[in-house]
Amino acid sequence: IVELKDVHKSFGPVAVLKGVSFSVDKGQVVAIIGQSGSGKSTALRCLDRLETIDSGELRVCEQELSGKDVDLRALRRDVGIVFQSYNLFPHLTVAENIMLAPRSVKKMGRSEARQLAADVLGRVGLADRLDAYPEQLSGGQQQRVAIARSLAMQPKVMLFDEVTSALDPELTGEVLKVIEKLAADGMTMILVTHEMEFAQRVADLVIYMRDGKVHESGPPDIMTNPSTPELRRFVSAGQ
Ligand code: ATP
Ligand code: MG
Repeated sequence: IVELKDVHKSFGPVAVLKGVSFSVDKGQVVAIIGQSGSGKSTALRCLDRLETIDSGELRVCEQELSGKDVDLRALRRDVGIVFQSYNLFPHLTVAENIMLAPRSVKKMGRSEARQLAADVLGRVGLADRLDAYPEQLSGGQQQRVAIARSLAMQPKVMLFDEVTSALDPELTGEVLKVIEKLAADGMTMILVTHEMEFAQRVADLVIYMRDGKVHESGPPDIMTNPSTPELRRFVSAGQ
């Protein structure tokens, strides 16, 4: 469902992705780990075409993203992305935040969209907060709303970029639990995360990025049994 082959991306003179290749099958959960600056976020952003790649091949949900002819609407419908900052509209209720995209992109009617909002909020354990405003929710709850908002578009792939790193430790667990449930439901997901134990438990495939490349990848066991000294050092640093 996602395939990268020798993807390169630079910002000006700075090469950030230096030949990244990996693929993700439908239903797979992939965790991307690696040091700060190794290109994890950039790789993820390329998958939703928030960045364009310089060279290589990139296919996401049957679309070739290496060329110029990309159906962005179709791509954004198929790919949900959640960031560290939840970016909810503060002046809209939780329900209204979630209804926005289905209403405008899918031309869904008001009551149908509200029902959908209730459904997806149920999936993240917030069925009773439909009419709350974001500021009335904790950070963890707001992040769960952001996930629900993505789910409302019925994406084929979900991308998560360090969605718990802005949260207090006691709020991290509730968000990870939601992601774990999505995994159990068969959602295809790519997670950039610093939560090593979580990655090991939930991922089918772990990708260790280093200096703009996939340095080592494999089943979660690679985190307990790394083949490269670099990954060994990275996991033992306890990040
Ligand atoms: P972190 O763990 O800190 O989030 P990361 O692995 O996600 O790191 P990226 O955000 O992909 O790393 O950044 C990789 C490199 O690309 C960094 O050196 C960063 O400064 C640079 N970079 C990222 N986005 C841009 C941009 N829009 N313009 C210029 N440089 C950028
Ligand atoms: Mg990042």
